[in-house]
Amino acid sequence: MYLKKAKTIVIKIGSSLLINEQKKIRNKWLIEFVKDIENLLKEKKNVVIVSSGAISLGCKKLNLNKKNLKLDKSQAIASIGQIELMNLLKNNFSKRKINISQILLTLEDTEQRRRAINAKRTLSNLFNLGYVPIVNENDSIATSEIKYGDNDRLASRVAQISDADCLILLSDVNGLYTKNPKIHKNTQLIKKITKINDEIEKIATKSISQHGTGGMKTKIDAAKIAQLSGCYMAIANGLVLNPINEIKKKNNCTWFLPKVSKLHARKKWIISSISPKGELIIDDGAISALKQGKSLLAAGIKKVNGKFYKGDHIKILNKSLKEYARGLSSFNSDEILKIKGHHSNKIKEILGYITKSEVVHKDDMVGV
Ligand code: GLU
Repeated sequence: MYLKKAKTIVIKIGSSLLINEQKKIRNKWLIEFVKDIENLLKEKKNVVIVSSGAISLGCKKLNLNKKNLKLDKSQAIASIGQIELMNLLKNNFSKRKINISQILLTLEDTEQRRRAINAKRTLSNLFNLGYVPIVNENDSIATSEIKYGDNDRLASRVAQISDADCLILLSDVNGLYTKNPKIHKNTQLIKKITKINDEIEKIATKSISQHGTGGMKTKIDAAKIAQLSGCYMAIANGLVLNPINEIKKKNNCTWFLPKVSKLHARKKWIISSISPKGELIIDDGAISALKQGKSLLAAGIKKVNGKFYKGDHIKILNKSLKEYARGLSSFNSDEILKIKGHHSNKIKEILGYITKSEVVHKDDMVGV
């Protein structure tokens, strides 16, 4: 099963899983959900949770109705509710000694390469520290996101930048049915989707989820992103207790299969940028380090051509000027001119500030 093999898993939970229609916290569900996460961590998996609920919990705190809220007011409410949300999660996760952290993103943070790289680095450092990052949209700042945004697409972008193998959208239905199960009796759960064709799109437009901003339409949009990122995606019922365990046991959900491999998707993402902005010419020692899958360090850089910024797409050449790899630079060209040839522990002294130690991180590099 896809979940079993996955190393990194992104799980999206909607507001209706945390808080019921009577505005009561679904405590029992949350206690059990934490156990699900604990099991995944025991299996040595990296887990990211994309959690909605800021606005719902803000409304609960102020005793307001979520419907009819004006945009600017919902932004203030999200700011109030986000800390309620984190408090709720922190209290529950800490009971089982699971460390969580918070990341608030806007769509731009995942869409713009430079910002996406920073977010990706932060996520991977958090995994290394043994933390479970909790992600939500920065609803208080990002205007359009509240109005049109949804955490389904945000979750698929998070899956993409964190190189996740699996994305699970926990919803209030088992998955995508051939006909809306709330209206029709003779309907079947579609268990596996390889291609999102017109028929699937049509079914999705017709099925409306009762809660949340998204519904099926945004889940299909999320699936398209996942498919192109080499990530398996499931729409599954989150209302049951231990929803992740339920998927493992019964697999009663809809899986979208990726269209491309993860490696291919990542390579494409790196290479797909507009033409490279510069070149780094590196020595033989650095070439053999890259061959072993290591990052490019300042010490191995001989020459810098062109003017580029941090995050720009650059070529890496050997000393006979043959292109060896392409990647995204963690420094701008002026900085590299200063640090080239030096040991990484001298970077702080030379530049006067602390920054990355790799000039091109191995995750941001592809051989040609
Ligand atoms: N980010 C919103 C919140 O935390 C929810 C968006 C969604 O449900 O998709 O309240």
